[in-house]
Formats: sequence, C-alpha cells, structure tokens
Amino acid sequence: MELYSGHINRLIEELASLPGIGGKSAQRLAFYLINLPKDRVKRLADSIVDARENVHYCKICYTLTDEDICPICSKKDRNHRMIMVVENARDLAAYEKTGKYDGVYHVLHGAISPMLGIGPGDIRLAELIKRLETEEVDEVIIATNSSLEGETTAMYISKLIKPTGIKVTRIASGVPVGGDLEYIDEVTLLRALEGRTEL
Ligand code: ZN
Repeated sequence: MELYSGHINRLIEELASLPGIGGKSAQRLAFYLINLPKDRVKRLADSIVDARENVHYCKICYTLTDEDICPICSKKDRNHRMIMVVENARDLAAYEKTGKYDGVYHVLHGAISPMLGIGPGDIRLAELIKRLETEEVDEVIIATNSSLEGETTAMYISKLIKPTGIKVTRIASGVPVGGDLEYIDEVTLLRALEGRTEL
C-alpha cells in the first residue's frame, strides 16, 4: 500500500540513500522540503546540480576545486617538496584552518579497508606514487586517521614509498582513535603534526 504519493516516496527513497540519513530522517526531510517555498527548493536543487557539474578534482592533489589546479597547488610560496597525505578534503580543510602548514597535500578519497572491500586501487594511491616519481619531494607526511583503516593505509603507503628513499613520516598519535580529523581542534592537530615521527 502506498502511504504517500509516489512523488514523495521517490524523494524519501533518494534522501534515505544518502550517507547518515536513515528512513525516519529521510521522511522528516522530505516533508520539510515539500513545505518550503518553491523558489527555496529550486535554489537548493540548483546548488546540488551546480556543485556536481562544476566541482572536480585538482589535477595534482585531487582535492575538490572549481579550477583545474586548486589554489593550494597553484601557490608558489608553499613548500611543494612536502606532501601531506589525507583521507579526504575535509581533513585537508582541518589542517588548512590551523594556518601553520605550508606544504601541499594529496587527498586519497578514502582509506584501505579489507572489511569494506576497499583496496589500494580504490583510493588515489597510484596518483600519489606518480607524483613522487615526477615531482621533487623531500617528505611525505601521512596524516590518515588513527582508525584501523587509517593505520592500515599509513603502513601500506610507507612500505610503498620507503624504497624510493623519500622521507616518510606519520603524524603523532594523540589524535583520538577513530576520531575524524575534522572534529579535532587545531591545537591537537598542530601537536600531531609537530610530533610526527619517521616511519
Ligand atoms: Zn591541488
């Protein structure tokens, strides 16, 4: 039996398919949305389509950007010989907010997780290795989360890079286990960065 109209059901289904949104939240959002003024709904819908169509990956570091090359990679006065490897663009934003890191980044877009079936080929790891082969790099700082997946990824990357002779460091633990970097305050992030150790 259809409880609601087909249109609403479709909306609920779409919303429920988003990460972190369960069936109940999806229903609540759907009813909220259909009660909004039409122009607001259109603005929201347009912003989604717009972002999807115009945001792409930086050709160098793979963060999300409106340009071919992101503002960080384009900046001459950043240290392009130091690359910090992060899991996602939100982690990059967290480090940028500290204003104390002047190197560049590499965004993996995930972490290796045998349990979830995510292997090295599913994240932007080959792209990192290619960068190391074509750019002059002094240090790679692995700043993946201190979760099991983050640690697995860090170990994997360090084993890959070690033979090249490039210095590989890992941010200090002290970052709470399983804690997403984006929720950690700036002081803790800086301490983790400054206390990094060579792998
Ligand atoms: Zn970039």
